[in-house]
Amino acid sequence: MSKTVTDNTLQAIISHAKEYGFVFPSSEIYDGLSAVYDYGPYGAQLKKNIRDDWWKSMTQMNENIVGIDAAIFMHPTTWKASGHVDSFSDPLIDNKDSKKRYRVDHLIEAHADKLMEEAAKDNDGGATLRDRAKQLIADMEVLLANDDFAGLGTLIQTNKIQCSVSGTSNWTEIRQFNLMFSTELGSVAEDANTIYLRPETAQGIFVNFLNVQKTARMKIPFGIAQTGKAFRNEIVARQFIFRMREFEQMEMQFFVKPGTQKEWYEHWKNERMNWHLSLGIAANKYRFHDHIKLAHYADAALDIEYEFPFGFKEVEGIHSRTDYDLTRHQEFSKKKLQYFDTEINQHYVPYVIETSIGLDRMFLLILSNSYEEETIQKEDGTTDSRVVLHLPTKLAPLKLAVLPLTKKDGLPELAKALMDECKPSFHCFYEEKDAIGKRYRRQDAIGTPFCVTIDHQTKEDNTVTIRYRDSMQQERIPMSEVKALILKHIA
Ligand code: ATP
Repeated sequence: MSKTVTDNTLQAIISHAKEYGFVFPSSEIYDGLSAVYDYGPYGAQLKKNIRDDWWKSMTQMNENIVGIDAAIFMHPTTWKASGHVDSFSDPLIDNKDSKKRYRVDHLIEAHADKLMEEAAKDNDGGATLRDRAKQLIADMEVLLANDDFAGLGTLIQTNKIQCSVSGTSNWTEIRQFNLMFSTELGSVAEDANTIYLRPETAQGIFVNFLNVQKTARMKIPFGIAQTGKAFRNEIVARQFIFRMREFEQMEMQFFVKPGTQKEWYEHWKNERMNWHLSLGIAANKYRFHDHIKLAHYADAALDIEYEFPFGFKEVEGIHSRTDYDLTRHQEFSKKKLQYFDTEINQHYVPYVIETSIGLDRMFLLILSNSYEEETIQKEDGTTDSRVVLHLPTKLAPLKLAVLPLTKKDGLPELAKALMDECKPSFHCFYEEKDAIGKRYRRQDAIGTPFCVTIDHQTKEDNTVTIRYRDSMQQERIPMSEVKALILKHIA
C-alpha cells in the first residue's frame, strides 16, 4: 500500500473539516464572519475530548492542581492591573494604495518566507537568499524587542517589502492597536461602564488566587487550571482556526516559592512536551522556541511549536511570569494576595509558571497530524483511495461503528445489542445503509478507530469481524470481547 499527501494540505483539511461535520464557518448562511468558526457534531466531540484529556492530565493526575471556571467578564480594573489596557497591542502598518492593514511581524515574516521559497528554486543564488531571509528575521526580532517602530519602518522600506494586493511599497507609519474587545455593562442610559471580553483566561485565576488557596487548602507549590473562551480582535486573522477572534484556551498557573521558578519552568516545559508526545505525535514535529522579546511580566518564556502544513508555529506558551500579576492586583485592589509559608514562617507573593495552550490550535494540530490521503494498491493490481484521520483513539469522536451486513435476518437486533452494551462506556455509531466498503470509508474519514461487522456467522457462533482503521486489518473475535478490547485501546 502506498500513500500520497497533497501539497495544499491545509486547504484539503479545511474542506474535509466542513464536509464531515468538524468545523463550519460561523453564520455561514450570511457568508460567515471573519476568523470565527463553529464546531459541528464530530468537531464538538473531538474538541471536548482534547479538553478533557488536558483537564485530566492537569487536575486528576496532579494532586496539587485544582480547576476553576471563572466568568468571561471581569471588573475592568483587572485589565489595567494586568497591563492589557496599556500594552496588549500589535504594531500595524497600512498600505496607502490598497488600504490593506498588516501586522508588522506578519508582513516581514511573509517576505522572509517568500525569500526562502525563491531560495529553494534557485540553485546558484539560494544561499544568499536564505541568508537574507534569516538576517531579516533576526533584525526584526531585535527591533520588536526594543519597540523600535522607526527602525521597523526602515527595515520594510530597505527590503522593498510590497503589499500583496497593490504590489506597492507605499506604507503608512507603524501604529499600535489594542486587541481587546470592549462592551458596556448595564444599559447605556444608566451609569454605563466599559468592560472587556477577556483576552486570556489567566487573570480569572490570579484574582481568585486566595479564594482557591484557602478553600481547597492548597500548599505551595500548587497550580490552578482553567479552560474557557478568550477574545482578541486579531487584525490579520488567517490560517483557518489557527488565529481566531473568539477561541478557547487551556491555562494553568503554577504558584511557587520565589527563587524556585527556574526549576519549575524546566519541569513544566518537559511535562507539557510529554503531554503532546503522549498523544502519539512524532517528536520531530515539535520544537521549542525560546523568546528573545520577553513580555512585560516574564523572566523566561518559550513556545512549543508544531510543524503545521504552513510551517513551524506556536501551539503553546510556557511563561515564567514572576510575581508580576499578583503584585499588580495587590496594588490595584489594595487587597493582600500573599501566601503564608508555614515552613519558613513568612508571607510572600508567590512566583508563577504559566502553561497556556489554545484548544482550537491544538484541534488544528490534531487534524493536521491525522489527515492522510492514501492510495491503496490492491492485490489484484487495481488501486483504491481513501481519506483517513489517524486520530489518537482516546481523542476520536466515535470509538466504534457497529455495522450489520444486511438489514434483515436478525442482524440489526444483534448489532443493537452490541450498541447497548458499549454505548454507556464510549461513543458508538450504528449504520445499516450502503455497502460495507462505503461504510468503512465514511468511518475512516471521521477517524473512527474500530468498525465491527455483524454477519450471518455471528448468529451461529457469536463472533464478529473487527476492522482496524489504520491498518485496515480485519479479524474475527467473540462479540463478548469487543467492549473490553476497545476500552483497552482507549486507556
Ligand atoms: P500568537 O503569537 O500566535 O499571537 P500569543 O503568543 O499571543 O500567540 P498567548 O497569549 O501566549 O499567544 O496565548 C497562549 C495560546 O493561546 C497560544 O499558544 C495559542 O495556542 C492560543 N492563541 C492565542 N491567540 C489565539 C488566536 N487568536 N486564535 C487561536 N488561538 C490563539
